[in-house]
Amino acid sequence: MKIAVIGAGIVGICTAYELALDGHSVSVFERHGAVAEEASFACAPHQSPSLAHAMAAPAWPQSSRLRALLSPSGISLGRGTSWKDLRWLSGWKAAPKGFLERFAAAQTLARYSLERQQALTLQASLVFEQSQGQLLLFRSERDVLAYQDQLAALNAQGAAAKVLTPEEARKLEPALGSDVALHAALHLPHDAQGNCRQFAHALRDKATELGVRFHFSTAVSAVSHTPAITLHTDRLGTQQFDHIVACTGSGAASLLAFKQAPLTRVWSCSLSAHIREPLNAPRSAVLDGHSQVSITRLGGRIRVSGGAELGGRQHQKHGAVSKLLYQTLQTHFPGAADFSRSMQLWRGASMFSPDALPLLGPSGRPGIWLNLAHGHNGWSMACGSARLLADMIRGRAAELDTTLVQPGRFIS
Ligand SMILES: Cc1cc2nc3c(=O)[nH]c(=O)nc-3n(C[C@H](O)[C@H](O)[C@H](O)COP(=O)(O)OP(=O)(O)OC[C@H]3O[C@@H](n4cnc5c(N)ncnc54)[C@H](O)[C@@H]3O)c2cc1C
Repeated sequence: MKIAVIGAGIVGICTAYELALDGHSVSVFERHGAVAEEASFACAPHQSPSLAHAMAAPAWPQSSRLRALLSPSGISLGRGTSWKDLRWLSGWKAAPKGFLERFAAAQTLARYSLERQQALTLQASLVFEQSQGQLLLFRSERDVLAYQDQLAALNAQGAAAKVLTPEEARKLEPALGSDVALHAALHLPHDAQGNCRQFAHALRDKATELGVRFHFSTAVSAVSHTPAITLHTDRLGTQQFDHIVACTGSGAASLLAFKQAPLTRVWSCSLSAHIREPLNAPRSAVLDGHSQVSITRLGGRIRVSGGAELGGRQHQKHGAVSKLLYQTLQTHFPGAADFSRSMQLWRGASMFSPDALPLLGPSGRPGIWLNLAHGHNGWSMACGSARLLADMIRGRAAELDTTLVQPGRFIS
């Protein structure tokens, strides 16, 4: 079948690749000049099934409305926050109902995705920066309590997650700063880290070898049925397809005119710095459970990531979050980064649904499929979501139950 994929972020690239593996004729339309230029550009590298749904944890936003709005660990309201954002926020805050079920669904999808990614990496000999294992740090008993639902769920599943004493945690991450208040830590040995952008570029090359056609610098302005499924582009006119898959990240709402879809963009930042002294750097990945800032070794660099703001814009200043990232890096791994060399401070938007699960499956319009709104788990879920969507298009039974991610729960 002739299939168009709109968007060449990590989700679009994985989708195009899986569809090509199934023998379809695939064309990708991307408004930027290269792959992974938006949310997938310099995102944090966590592929963390164990924490896949952390941002929608009931204890976190619910504990205090004020804390959720003001604390750096909660979602903050940026300049330009709209009524639509606030409507989403109120829906999201109400979402703790059924949290454990959604947490399990997110974990299952992220785990499946990691396995799929590892299989593709071997099959296609993909080369990208990777590391294994993650430490979640708790500064106080209160931080542990904020994660108690996740911890209970992980225990119930028999997941490889072990609570460590501060001494045990420091043995795993010996460079962790002595000033870091440490009450306990959760070791997640099977969670992984990988460079999302590098993976996207490597998979793009393999997809091209499989015959996928990439149309860069080509924005899709509309999708219509005339009666065939027609894609309208700014550069290549109109083109007809049997199916269209929207992997448009935060560009989804305007393109597909799903006005009732309660999706919103949440802005976060990352800071990437060269390592000055490897012995002072993290061995793998550390997530501060209090501030929600993560610090990861990524090849010869360290990537620090955090913040969650509604209503922002791409070039808006992000002073408070970048200060938090610098400070966390300095206290957690002092002397690790080389501040004399160029650093990259980057801000990107992830698309969120109110329940923090993606929209994956038929859109309700014949031949138009969605694979988007993965929130802060797009990299963790990309390979698995792509495989599941390819199975749906082919009419093959999906390997996972996709009930909770079906777009029909929000759009009709
Ligand atoms: C700071 C930060 C840290 C993060 N950390 C993690 C993490 O540790 N782990 C994790 O799993 N996830 C993380 N995420 C989330 C993750 O980055 C996103 O979920 C993921 O990149 C989304 O991928 P995507 O392909 O859906 O969207 P994008 O990468 O945004 O790709 C969408 C593409 O569609 C294109 N597009 C949109 N509309 C059109 C149109 N009309 N015509 C043509 N092209 C169009 C865009 O140009 C874009 O290239 C993080 C995000 C940020 C910002």
